[in-house]
Amino acid sequence: MKIILANPRGFCAGVNMAIESLERALQLFGTPLYVYHEIVHNRPVVERFSAKGVEFVDSIDEVPRGATVLYSAHGVSPAIRNAAQERSLRAIDATCPLVTKVHVEAIKFAREGYHIILIGHEGHDEVLGTMGEAPEAMTLVQDAADVARLEIPPGTKLAYLTQTTLSVDEASEIIGALRARFPDIAGPKKEDICYATQNRQEAVKTLVGEADSVIVLGSRNSSNSNRLAELACAKGKPARLIDTAAELDPAWFQGHETVLVTAGASAPEDVVEACIERLKSLFNATVESRVVREENVSFPLPRELTVLAR
Ligand code: SF4
Repeated sequence: MKIILANPRGFCAGVNMAIESLERALQLFGTPLYVYHEIVHNRPVVERFSAKGVEFVDSIDEVPRGATVLYSAHGVSPAIRNAAQERSLRAIDATCPLVTKVHVEAIKFAREGYHIILIGHEGHDEVLGTMGEAPEAMTLVQDAADVARLEIPPGTKLAYLTQTTLSVDEASEIIGALRARFPDIAGPKKEDICYATQNRQEAVKTLVGEADSVIVLGSRNSSNSNRLAELACAKGKPARLIDTAAELDPAWFQGHETVLVTAGASAPEDVVEACIERLKSLFNATVESRVVREENVSFPLPRELTVLAR
């Protein structure tokens, strides 16, 4: 077996920053330490922090008054920030700056009197946070059929925004449907789908033709990881989304000579390495690393942590 190892893959700048923030907060404050939602959507990452005593909560009410809470990379709504303030929590904001950019766009469009169509996945942490910036001025659409069902009063100023981790192809189809129905719709100055999501999809698109099947390291609730597996399937190749090498089933690779391995933006490199080691030992696999695009992006730690560290 030959393994084609896709580059770029795995941790993006936002995930790196969020994980480093949590590590730093643990050093500075110890436990109890709370994170609102999963710090990133990855089971091994969350389990490792849970083992160190970090508590992940889905409601601010679960955080004791005066305790320290981190907001995850996916961001939070103003209502959550207010609830944290009311409980006198020390809040550390590890929201990815590229998610914050979408929040800022939402605030700006809402202030200018636009009704915003947000393209995203219902219930995703990022979508909850973004919609919370202007709940009365925003409608969520998930596909082109939702666009066809939109009932917008005539004369409404419309704008669209997108979740950062969508399929580039699906998002452009939905944006096309919006533009066809509402030719005057405004949009963001620069693409909302983040560089990391785009680059990981581009790498799979470029390399998938050479492979018999695809392994994506990532969690089921990771939007960008799911999009990578879907992209491979759409190109006619069986793709599996797994959290760890232990989930690999040798039966998946019957007659497969080449396997493409990639990882979602929240999947740590050690799970990729363990997966490769398992394929090496099962199938005597060799590895060919292929770089489709170089990445050189990093984000600073939240101000709250750097100020405290001085
Ligand atoms: S996937 Fe994109 S938006 Fe999400 S944390 Fe990474 S860089 Fe930020």
